[in-house]
Amino acid sequence: MSDCIFCKIASREMPSTIVDESEKLITIKDINPQAPTHLLIIPKEHFPTILECTDKTLLGDMLTTANRLAEEQGFAQKGFRTVINTNEEGGQIVRHLHMPLLAGRPLSGKMG
Ligand code: 5GP
Ligand code: ZN
Repeated sequence: MSDCIFCKIASREMPSTIVDESEKLITIKDINPQAPTHLLIIPKEHFPTILECTDKTLLGDMLTTANRLAEEQGFAQKGFRTVINTNEEGGQIVRHLHMPLLAGRPLSGKMG
């Protein structure tokens, strides 16, 4: 997808702060953080939403990555939130599957 910002970030065409990378995923800092930690776990492959995601192991990999980063970055026990916003009423703005990972403050009410 040539005009997709997350595809461009994954291919390094666009700059971002990368905090983790694996074969299928890249994790970056959100440009407009809503919590002290606000990461975006992004598949390198372009799926517009979770509905089109044909790679089911990828979804498990995204959650496993969130767990690992929570442990590594030291907020696992205090707590964190993962969400996947889908389509308009789900609050999805960027049409490339991604999973926000928020931590560092009480998150009641804020859904990503
Ligand atoms: P959505 O509402 O689609 O689930 O979330 C999109 C998220 O991507 C937002 O939190 C927004 O701040 C973030 N975002 C949008 N454009 C960029 C960008 O160019 N770089 C980074 N690092 N984050 C972005
Ligand atoms: Zn894309």
